[in-house]
Amino acid sequence: LVGSEMCIRDRGSKMIDLKQNVQYVKSVGPAKVPLLNSLNIYTIEDLLTYFPRDYEDRSKTKNIADLINGEEVTIQATVVSEVTINRIRKNMTIIKATVEDNTGRCTITWFNQTYIKQHIKRGETYKFFGKAINEFNHFEMRNPVFDKVDTSKNTGKIMPIYPTTYKLSQTAIRQAVENALNMVNGKLSETLPDYLLNEYNLLDLQNSLNQIHFPIDMEHKIQARKRLVFEELLTMQLALLELKGNSEKNKGITFDKNAKMSDVINSLPFKLTKAQLRVLEEIDADMESEKPMNRLLQGDVGSGKTVVSIISAYKAVKSGYQVAIMAPTAILATQHMEEFSKILAPLGIKCELLLGATTAKNKKDILERLQTGEIDVLIGTHALITENVTFKNLGLVVTDEQHRFGVKQRTAIAAKGNNPDTLVMTATPIPRTLALILYGDLDISIIDELPPNRKKIETYAVTKSMEERINNFIKKNIDEGRQIYVVCPLVEEKEEEDETTKDLKAVKEWTKIYKEQIFPEYRVECVYGKMKQKEKDEIMQKFKDGEIDILVSTTVIEVGVNVPNANIMVVENADRFGLAQLHQLRGRVGRGQYQSYCVLKYNSKCSQVGKERMKTMQETNDGFVIAEKDLELRGTGEFFGTRQHGIPEFKIANLFVDMPMLKSVQSVALKIESEDKGLTQEKNKRLRKLVDNKLKQSVSL
Ligand code: ADP
Ligand code: MG
Repeated sequence: LVGSEMCIRDRGSKMIDLKQNVQYVKSVGPAKVPLLNSLNIYTIEDLLTYFPRDYEDRSKTKNIADLINGEEVTIQATVVSEVTINRIRKNMTIIKATVEDNTGRCTITWFNQTYIKQHIKRGETYKFFGKAINEFNHFEMRNPVFDKVDTSKNTGKIMPIYPTTYKLSQTAIRQAVENALNMVNGKLSETLPDYLLNEYNLLDLQNSLNQIHFPIDMEHKIQARKRLVFEELLTMQLALLELKGNSEKNKGITFDKNAKMSDVINSLPFKLTKAQLRVLEEIDADMESEKPMNRLLQGDVGSGKTVVSIISAYKAVKSGYQVAIMAPTAILATQHMEEFSKILAPLGIKCELLLGATTAKNKKDILERLQTGEIDVLIGTHALITENVTFKNLGLVVTDEQHRFGVKQRTAIAAKGNNPDTLVMTATPIPRTLALILYGDLDISIIDELPPNRKKIETYAVTKSMEERINNFIKKNIDEGRQIYVVCPLVEEKEEEDETTKDLKAVKEWTKIYKEQIFPEYRVECVYGKMKQKEKDEIMQKFKDGEIDILVSTTVIEVGVNVPNANIMVVENADRFGLAQLHQLRGRVGRGQYQSYCVLKYNSKCSQVGKERMKTMQETNDGFVIAEKDLELRGTGEFFGTRQHGIPEFKIANLFVDMPMLKSVQSVALKIESEDKGLTQEKNKRLRKLVDNKLKQSVSL
C-alpha cells in the first residue's frame, strides 16, 4: 500500500483508483484542499496513508472520586446544575456547570465557547474528556470535549494525533480521514499476498488502515502498524534486490588479470592495512569478473580509502580503460588530484583535474585529450557529469563521499561508459546491519581498521569557564608550529537565505573575535561555502602550506581535507552539530605524527541530547559506535540528514525502532527472491505490483 497503487471497487464493480484528488472526500471542501496539499496530501491514498504521529487515549473512564490532579481523563457524569454563562470582562465569557457521578461532583468550565450552552442540558449525562485540575479540594475540568453518553465522537476512544499545521485542525484531519475510510470500506483490494498474511500473522489491509487511524485499543494499533511497516520494508527490500539483479544482468568489463594491483602496492611508501588488502581483494575479484562492479566502500575518516581507489584505478588503466573520480567539493577533488598524481604519475599514468572553475581554454584542451584517450584518470566535481565530457573508453567510476551525490548523479556519470565498474566511497559509518539493508543494491566492503601508529585524538567537551585555558593551549601548540581548525555551526548552500546569512555572520564574527581579540599575534583566516571557488581554494592552499595558523570555517572542511600539521579541532556551539558531523570534523586532525585534540565548546544549558552527544564524543573514537549511538539518540532522520543524502524516506517505518523487523523482512525478501526471481508466480502477483510501483519512483530509493 505504502507508495503503491490501491484500487477500490465501485458498487458497479468499476475500478476507481485511489490516486484521485482528495477533494472527492466528503468534508474536504475547496478551502481545505490547499491546506492538505501543504501536508503533501493530494490523493485519497495520500490521506489514507497520512499516519498519526501519536495517539491520545480517551477510552478509559474514571470515577470523579479517583481523579488525580493534572491528568487528562474521561469522566461520565450528569449535569446537576443550571448551565451559567458570565461575561467576566471584555472578550472573556465563562460557562460553568456542575456535574456528578456515583462517586462525587466536579465543575466543568469553558472559556469563550458560548455556543456550548445550547449543547449541554441539566439532567442529561455526558462523557467529558479534559484535564482534571484540583483547586481547593475540588476538581474542575477546563474546556473539555464531550459527547452525549451514548455517542463516541470525541471521547471514549483512542484519538489519533496527526502532524499538522496550525491552519488545519486535528478535528478536520480526523474527519477527512474517517470519511476517506468510509469511502473505501469493504472495497479495498489487499496489497500483500494471502500466504504472507497467514505465515506472518499480519492484519489485512482494510483493518490495518482502520486500526492505525482509529484503533479500538493499543494492541490493535500495534498489529496494524506491524503490518504496514512489514509491507513498506518488504517492498523496499524486494525493489533493491531487483535493482541489483538487473544491474548484474548487464555484461560489464572484464579487467586484465595481468594488470596486477601488487605492482602499485609495492611502490607505496607505507604498508597497507589488513583491512585495505581485504577490500582490494574484493574489488580485484569484481573487476576481473564480467559482472559490472557495484560496490560501496565504507571506512572511517582516515582509514585510507583514497589509496584503495588509486590502486583500483591503476588496474583499470593498465587494462586499457579510463577512470573517472568524482568528489563533492573542489577542495577534495584537488586533493585527490595531488594524491593520485603522486602515486600514479611515476607509473606512467596521466591524471587530470576538471572543475567548474577550470578556464574555458583548459577545459577544451582537457576534453580533447580525454576523447583521444591521452588522459587516463579524470578527477573532478560534478563538472564531470556535464554533457560535453566524453571519454574514449570509461571503465571505472569512483564517487567519493557517496551521501553527497544522489543515485541520479551516480547513474549519470556511469552512463558515460559502457557498463563501467563503479565504486562508491563513504566515510559515513552506517551500522553494518543497516548498510546491508539500505544499500541492498550494492555490495559492501568495509575498512574497519586505521593505519598503525595513529595517535588517539583526545577529545574534551568544555563550557565557557574553560575558554581561557583552551586559548592558552591553542597558543602553545601554534608556537610549537602546529595549526588549528575552528568550526562554527553548519552552513549548507541549500539552506534558506536568512539562515545562511545568520550563520555566515557567525563565521565572520568568530573570525573577527579570533583575529582581533584572542589571537591578534597569529595568522587567522576564514573560509565558508558561499565564497568564490577561487578564494576558497586559495585559502585552503595557504592553510596546507602552513601560511595560516588558525582557519575559521563552516563545515566546508568537513569532508576529507588532509593537513597533517593541523592538530587541534575546535568546534564552536558543538551542541548544535549532529554526532556524525562532529565525528567527521574530528577526523580532520590526527592525520600526522602529532598528538591531536578535539575541543567541543558547548552551552551548559543545551538539551539533554546535546549533552549525551558530548559524552559519546569524549568516550569513543569509533565511528561505528558513534553511528549506533546517533541512531539511538535521534532515529535515522538526523543521522542521515535529509533527503539529499539519498537514503529512502519511510512513511511509517522507523529504522531505529523497527530494526528487528527490518532484519526479519530482509530474510523474507531473500527467500521470496530465491524462489521466484522476477516475482512472476501467480502467488506473488500482488508483490510484483508493489515493487513495480516502488521502482517507478525509484529515484527516491
Ligand atoms: P579517508 O579514508 O578518510 O579518505 P585517506 O585516504 O585520506 O582517508 O587517508 C588518510 C591518510 O592516511 C592519508 O594521508 C594516506 O596517505 C594515509 N594512509 C592510507 N593508508 C595508509 C596505511 N596503510 N599506512 C599509513 N598511512 C596510510
Ligand atoms: Mg577520503
